[in-house]
Parts: sequence; C-alpha cells; structure tokens
Amino acid sequence: MDEFQWEEFCNDIDEIYASLKEVNEGDVASYIPQLANVDENMFGISVYSIDNRHHGIGNINHNFCIQSCSKTLTYALALRDNGVEKTNRHIGREPSGARFNAFVFDDENKPFNPLINSGAIMSAALVKSQSSDDIRFEYVVDTWKKIVGKNNVGFDNGVYLSEKNTANRNHALAHIMMENNIFPPRTDINKTLEFYFQLCSITMNCTALSKYGAMLANGGTTVDTNEKIFDPVIARDLLCIMYSSGMYDYSGRWSYDIGLPAKSGVSGAIFAVVPHIGGICVYSPKLDEIGNSVRGVEFFRKLTQKYRLHIFDTLITGLNEKKTLLKLTDSIETQIYDCCKNNKYDLLKKIIESNHIDINKGDYDKRCPLHIAVDENHLKIVDYLINQKACYKKQDRWGNSMYKKMRKKKSKQLGLILLAHLRKKNVLKIAFNILKSNSSCPEIYH
Ligand code: GLN
Repeated sequence: MDEFQWEEFCNDIDEIYASLKEVNEGDVASYIPQLANVDENMFGISVYSIDNRHHGIGNINHNFCIQSCSKTLTYALALRDNGVEKTNRHIGREPSGARFNAFVFDDENKPFNPLINSGAIMSAALVKSQSSDDIRFEYVVDTWKKIVGKNNVGFDNGVYLSEKNTANRNHALAHIMMENNIFPPRTDINKTLEFYFQLCSITMNCTALSKYGAMLANGGTTVDTNEKIFDPVIARDLLCIMYSSGMYDYSGRWSYDIGLPAKSGVSGAIFAVVPHIGGICVYSPKLDEIGNSVRGVEFFRKLTQKYRLHIFDTLITGLNEKKTLLKLTDSIETQIYDCCKNNKYDLLKKIIESNHIDINKGDYDKRCPLHIAVDENHLKIVDYLINQKACYKKQDRWGNSMYKKMRKKKSKQLGLILLAHLRKKNVLKIAFNILKSNSSCPEIYH
C-alpha cells in the first residue's frame, strides 16, 4: 500500500467509525459479571499493515479478555506442535452449523472445528501436552508476546475464575469427548479445561489483535520484528478455518458478504485478516443474538462495501463501484530486493533502519540484497549494505558472491568499496594487501 492509499484508507476507516458511533443495538455478554459490567460504549478500530503501519481510532488501548479469539492461536500451536495429520485426527475442519457451545460432533465424534468450544478444548489438550500446566500456559503467553509485544499481553484472573465457576457446559462437552475417546491418550480433562479458560482470559487491546491479524496476513511472520512464528502452511490452514467457521453460526453469511477470514469473541472483539495487506480489529462489546459485536459486523460490512477486500472481489472487474483493491503490499524482503534492483537508496535505508532484518537472507535463488545491488551496479547501495554487515562472501545458488563477482568483473569500484570497508574495520593486513596490489581487482580477497 503506498502512502497515499494508506492515508485514504485510514480516513475511510475513521469515517466509518464516526458513522457507527451512534449504533446502539445489541447487549453485552452477561454470563459472567466481568463481561456484564464492561462499559458498553467502548468502541475502537485498529488496522495494522504488513509493512508495519498502524492506525487506530477510539478505545484502541482498552484491554479486554480475548475469549474466543484465543481459539485461533491455540489451534495454530496445536498444528505446530503435533503436525496437521495428528491434529486432524482429533479436530474436524467443518462448520458446525450450530451454536459455539452446542453438543454437536461430526461422524467420527470429533469436534466439527477448532473455533467452537469443543474444538478449542481439544486444541488446548494438544498444545504442549507433555508439559506441566505452568509451562503450557507460559508457552502460549510467550507466543502472544512474541507476536504483539511483551507489554501488550495480560491476564484477567477475575474472568478466569468466573469462567471456571460457570463452566458446566464446557465440562459436559469435555466429558462427552472423553466418553467418545477423542482426546489424546492420558489427557486430564480438568487441567485441559482450566488451560482453556486461562487462554480465554488473556487480555489484549484492539491494536494488539490487529497486529496478530497482520502476522497471519504476512504468512505467519511478525510484521515488526520479522520473526517467523508459524510456517505459512499453518497460517493458511488457520485462515481457512477462520474463513469457514470464525463467526459462530453467522460464518457462512459472513464469508459470503464480507469475504474475509475472521474471528469474533464474546467480549466484543472481531479481528479479520486481509492476506498480504494486514489485520483489522474492532472492539465494541454489544453483541447480536449470535454473539458477534454489532458494530464490528457493521464496520466490516461498510468497509467491504467501500473496498474490494472480499477475497473473491478480484474476480469482478470493471463493473464494481468499490474502491480499487489496495495494492498488495510486498513483504519487507521483497521491498528490499526491489530497492536494490531499482536503486531506491533512501527507501532502502529507511526500511532497514526501522526493521530488524537479516540483511543476508536470500531469495529462492539464495540471492541476497547485496548480490542484487552488485549485479545492477548500484554502488551507493552496495556500499551501504556492506556497512550494514552484508556479507561479501555469501554465495547465491550458483556459488557467486560479491567478492567473486568483483573478481570476475575486474571491478575497481567494487574493490574500492570493499577496501574502504575493511580499512574502516581496521582489518589492516587485508587493507595493506589491497593497497599493495596494482590490480584493479586485488587478488588478496581469498
Ligand atoms: N469462554 C467462553 C466459553 O467458553 C468463550 C466464549 C466465546 O467467546 N464465544 O464459553
């Protein structure tokens, strides 16, 4: 998304926010006092792009328990810990067509999917199942912290205790699954349920959940620290389930009308993922009868009426009055490769300085930024990359490094850049040898 699109997009979000402020339908969840007593007027919208831009409006810093939004991460961790085959043996991938806490199971007696209560309890049973309770809880919290930042994750003990004390239905679901022999061997269902309640009681704000959405939009890698949390296959598998089953028994209508993978929670959050663009979260606690935030659903309806964000909008050309689909944002790596190829020195500097990036990471041909800049003969960029610790000996798929290219091309300019760098680093012996050499491409770079 370029600067202009981003600004326009943010303005449109603010406009939709203003138009929804007066919407007052719905009721806050009332099954526990902690949810019944929240300020029902809270309203925040946050957007996080995969190129690490953030915009928010309203109560974006208010912390709330993430409730069912937690089910998405629990499932991704179950997949990461157990692999897809084992996970699929315990949890289905079908919409249930019933309420999130209904007593319904598929033909093999498995939960229909991981985003309803039975499925989320099963996911919890699969996460670090060999470890003690404290380790398991910390494992999930640490993962959240890696994704959204360590100061942005909390825990609401009141919510946890209330969940635990009003959990007959969840206990019943777990007992049915135990009776049906669906849990992994040696599962302790009481501990599993407690773990599940704890995960629902984790707190976060709107911005954090939008950042989580951005990580998924980015294929499982965080957008600020560039840390790979999940394999892209896991991100894809999770997004599939969110697309078909993320919005309780409104999921079919949601995918049809809105067309984005999303998850809602009974505390009033809905976060949606726009692949290759970013994450969006709305927080507003008043819910419709199905359990989705009224303003949240309405926001996404208005946004997708204005923008071509529905994942199948790309099929419709010409006749659509919606704003053009935002240009798919390139990943940070792709942007860097682009800068090196097209001599965008200032932009490259800005990207590298504002992100933690492995400058020596190669593309599918193991070509690093430095290889590209050398090939294109963009010397200012070569010099900059070398000073940013780009490795001049790193080889691409064909065994070429900057050093080898320099020799092959007999490039004096590349030689001088390297020389200046080595002198700066005080690598006196090598620098001395370079100086001694009469060749435009000194032989001493072995
Ligand atoms: N903790 C809630 C439950 O288990 C989660 C509900 C929700 O967000 N849908 O019932």
